Amino acid sequence: MKRFIDKLYKGSKKDFFSLVEKNLKNEERQFIVTANPEAFMYGNRTGNFKNLLLSEDTTVIADGIGIVKAAKKVDMPVSERIPGVELAEHLFSLGDKYNKNIYLFGAKPEVLEALCKKLENEYKNLKIAGFCDGYKADKDKTFEEIKALSPDIILVALGIPAQEELIFKHLSGFEKGIFVGVGGSFDVLSGLKKRAPKFFIKCNLEWFYRIITEPKRIKRFYNNNVKFLLKVKK
Ligand code: UDP
Repeated sequence: MKRFIDKLYKGSKKDFFSLVEKNLKNEERQFIVTANPEAFMYGNRTGNFKNLLLSEDTTVIADGIGIVKAAKKVDMPVSERIPGVELAEHLFSLGDKYNKNIYLFGAKPEVLEALCKKLENEYKNLKIAGFCDGYKADKDKTFEEIKALSPDIILVALGIPAQEELIFKHLSGFEKGIFVGVGGSFDVLSGLKKRAPKFFIKCNLEWFYRIITEPKRIKRFYNNNVKFLLKVKK
């Protein structure tokens, strides 16, 4: 677990966003994992996820408050949370600023449709290179199609660990691109699902809001977040 925590980006959200801006401008290739306790638990359980977390090609940011607390506990503190949903939004703005193009992969067809409409309305210079919902059978084939388009920003919203594993598998075939596995962010960014109210975000209780609004998350929360924090304590 310590190796994963050590790998975390330790700086502020502002500094991280500047780094991403530089990479996007310079057409670099960057794979960003927005880590929550579930990500580190997967890394602990499976060799492939461990490799992708520790790979030199990967930047790991602390999306969840559980990760921020754990890093503090083992004396490798990070400045603050960098939520994946905010990173995705920032990438929309950067894409708009630099006339870049984006590929959106994942979520339900109606979510994707609403998100594309929103992007076309609000980010006039951001070009949608393509999109594909997350319920098509052959995801490797979709990635081959993405490769042919060579987009600047590739957001994959298939849930953890599928989104990260898929990106990592295909990453070396790309020359450029900012790749992020964004979990349920399309649901929120499309406007079809509400993000937690500001109060919950400010008090680091976004995870709690997600549980009370979607009680089926409890089991997942216990198996990952609770067990993760117990592991860190030990
Ligand atoms: N999803 C998908 N295909 C699948 C399973 C899930 O596109 O086969 C999408 C789902 O619609 C949702 C996202 O993946 O938009 C996962 O969201 P979740 O809230 O579980 O992710 P979290 O933010 O908790 O990591």
